[in-house]
Amino acid sequence: MKETSLTDRQERIAGFKQSLIDRAVIGVIGAGRTANEVIKNLALTGFRSIFVCDMDSVSDTNLPGTVLFRKADVGEPKARLAAEGFERLAVAEGAKARWLCADACYGLGEGVLRRCDLVINCVDNTQTRLYISRICKLLEKPCVDIGISGFDWTHMASSPDSDKACYACVISPRDAHEALKRVRNSCDVTLSEAAKEDRAATIITAAAMAGGKAVETAIKILHYEEREDRSYDPFYGVITSYSAASGRTESFRVPLREGCENHLSYRELGGIRPSGLSADDELGKVLERVRELYGEGYSLSLEKDCVPVSNKAFIRRAFCKCCQAPIEVYRPQFSLSDEDLLCEDCRAAGKIPLLPSRAERIYRFSLAETEERILGMKLRELGVPALHILEFVSGDESRLPLFLELDGDGKEENI
Ligand SMILES: [Zn+2]
Ligand SMILES: [Zn+2]
Repeated sequence: MKETSLTDRQERIAGFKQSLIDRAVIGVIGAGRTANEVIKNLALTGFRSIFVCDMDSVSDTNLPGTVLFRKADVGEPKARLAAEGFERLAVAEGAKARWLCADACYGLGEGVLRRCDLVINCVDNTQTRLYISRICKLLEKPCVDIGISGFDWTHMASSPDSDKACYACVISPRDAHEALKRVRNSCDVTLSEAAKEDRAATIITAAAMAGGKAVETAIKILHYEEREDRSYDPFYGVITSYSAASGRTESFRVPLREGCENHLSYRELGGIRPSGLSADDELGKVLERVRELYGEGYSLSLEKDCVPVSNKAFIRRAFCKCCQAPIEVYRPQFSLSDEDLLCEDCRAAGKIPLLPSRAERIYRFSLAETEERILGMKLRELGVPALHILEFVSGDESRLPLFLELDGDGKEENI
């Protein structure tokens, strides 16, 4: 007698191909309430391979809203627990979840997302939503975005193609400005702690509905991208929102916003090139390798023109946030807390960092102009994550920027 598949019931749905689910790799950004529901649904529909990224640890207040966390998990990284939860619940034999405990805007290499078939964006702040949406467009990856507020939820799928509205087409200029303010606070160096806090009013019922909808869309995208089956239309560029007050779910197609910066892809910018390099290589070696392969005059640019919602400056020197004495920092800006910007004397005296700190920010590095100490630092120490895609710019305007992937990291983190 033929053995019945564990996913037999869903395979009876017209046109359903379990093999598409079986071989897909799904990136999940965030491991909070909505991500828990997404990951649970991915596990129970037979997905075999996911990647989860989140920077936080589980707190007491997370427990009532999360199916993958338990009381004993308080204080542990959400990303790891969510990955373990996926493997525990998965119906596919040998299912594997990879995870990363990092801020997706700074610690997640773009190459990790390049190795996913689609990305589900479950984060709770506009900056990260915009950033992930931007990277997905650059990589031509479909992206499913969900958000919850109170009993309500919203959902939108963005196409890998550039001709349909994306998340950034929808966001108001005011929200985009707020998102940028979090990273570009002109009078200070450290990120605002308040901006990182999540105190939104949410409930598991909204997360459950949004999580279900997101995985339904993920399944549709896999079918649609393979054979453009209209019955599996993921409705790219359509926002669906549920309002508990009215009891209604409404959908509308968002027009492509003229001037939306989000629609270029790496392919249109010249493509992503292999490098054999790793985030553990020293900057000097990396620049020499680029000179060897592509000629003189290229500088590494930490901030990319094509990714406007980030701030990846490297801080060489700053001024003490108490007494204004100059201090040597030599660290990426995003990694700095207020306490890191006290001089040794003020720190020893237990002073409180009150003043804004002025700092010397560096964005570009070249063999000719960068100091020895920095050339001897590893890319990782400059704030570059494993498997990242780096931009190298030339002083010669006629030469396009180069985009090189740190594929030397592929062995340990390749998904
Ligand atoms: Zn757009
Ligand atoms: Zn001081």
